[in-house]
Amino acid sequence: MIQTKIVATLGPATDSLEMILKLIAAGVDVFRLNFSHGTIEQHAATFRQIKKACEQTGEMIAVMGDLCGPKIRIDPVEDDEFEIARGDKMEIVAEHMVGGPGRVSTNRPELVKEVQVGHRVLIDDGMVRLRVDRVLEDRLECTCEIGGMIRTRKGLNLPDSDLEMSALTDKDREDLAWALENNLDYIALSFVRSAKDLQELRELMPLEDRCRIVAKIETVQAIKYMDQIIEASDVILVARGDLGVEMELARVPILQKRIVRQCQNAAKPCIVATQMLQSMVDSPVATRAEVSDVANAILDKADCVMLSAETSVGSYPLESVEMLSKTALYTEDEMRLRNRASRMDPALTMRRVTTAVAHGASLLARELEAKLVAVWTDTGNTARLLSKTRLGMPVVGLSTDELVCRRMAMYFGVIPICMSRHREILQMLRDVDTELLKRGLVKSNDLIVVVAGTRLDQTGATNALLIHLVSDGETNVPVFA
Ligand code: PGA
Ligand code: MN
Repeated sequence: MIQTKIVATLGPATDSLEMILKLIAAGVDVFRLNFSHGTIEQHAATFRQIKKACEQTGEMIAVMGDLCGPKIRIDPVEDDEFEIARGDKMEIVAEHMVGGPGRVSTNRPELVKEVQVGHRVLIDDGMVRLRVDRVLEDRLECTCEIGGMIRTRKGLNLPDSDLEMSALTDKDREDLAWALENNLDYIALSFVRSAKDLQELRELMPLEDRCRIVAKIETVQAIKYMDQIIEASDVILVARGDLGVEMELARVPILQKRIVRQCQNAAKPCIVATQMLQSMVDSPVATRAEVSDVANAILDKADCVMLSAETSVGSYPLESVEMLSKTALYTEDEMRLRNRASRMDPALTMRRVTTAVAHGASLLARELEAKLVAVWTDTGNTARLLSKTRLGMPVVGLSTDELVCRRMAMYFGVIPICMSRHREILQMLRDVDTELLKRGLVKSNDLIVVVAGTRLDQTGATNALLIHLVSDGETNVPVFA
């Protein structure tokens, strides 16, 4: 079994119960609902299928809703597309209109006041490039530098312009309300520019809300304020699609590595996303470069790899997930060979005792060549910390709370198990043994390390490391050779 977590975006190619079940069997841990496409009704229907699939399989699968954020898009154009060539003039007008050769409008009329002469206008992930020659009251006059097709609703990036935009559009607020109503496990915010954007989102979430926030890194500003953004979010997503348009494409690999490393130091899960297996959208095999990209992300300690078009609209969604799994399998083997105890950075927001216990558990587990580490957690935090040590063995995240278990679906190498916790320590260990044996994760007499609190009836009191021999019988006094 692989430890890298797989996030798959659902869409027309995969939104049936049958397909969702197949994707889970192939190794998907987290499903993404992308609010940039489809209606709430469609997402609600897909969400019901996911829940059905989870019930049928008993798997702890997390669901992540992805808010569009303030993405600028071209308004509809006549016949849905037209061609523009290098040297052609083009106006971007404030007032909404049906566009055509020479003139288009966008979903953001204000932009004519925010863009300056010389700024670049990138359309359709940078496939088409314009430069602004003149700024008038109600329009921008541009010249085309790289020609191509302009299509209805295609994205538009303004990497040189300073945009005064709210982090959340009205549509985002509606989508968020739906996501919270339905208890989605994660909510991702697109085009985050600063920690303030994430606070704005958090303020819209009730205090007791247990949904976690994923910050998508895809703007120049986000790179600048990376530290604060990591601090203000629960998970980071390297959104290489828009990042590669907003920043110079050639910088993306190094930025990705830097972000993954920073997340590692902050013990926050990190997702590497977009075009991981792009050619598999219409081909049953991946390119060498794509597979290398996946393996390198895992070696760099990305916790999750994500599929977008490959699974949402592609012709080979299952094959894509299988390709990821297989690549992770070989890569993780190599990681275990190279494995050295990675030190835990104490500069974390977690309790010092918890950090020390997690670190101690990873040292003990390695020293004793334990079969696995089982950790009782009420928030998932201790499991997340252990996951970041890249132990090379499974971390079983035990929680009495299903939501916490689904949350742990995002954590590298963590196998979430939902079970009740006996107040008496030997009975608790017997229950854990029974559950681990039942799932085939251990055999009788295997040595495991259990992380818990001595007050088993209390939460948030992790303070104990137990070295334990699994027993399938009545013996409950551990005997160590
Ligand atoms: P998107 O985000 O798929 O919502 O655009 C990911 C990216 O930009 O890479
Ligand atoms: Mn994006």
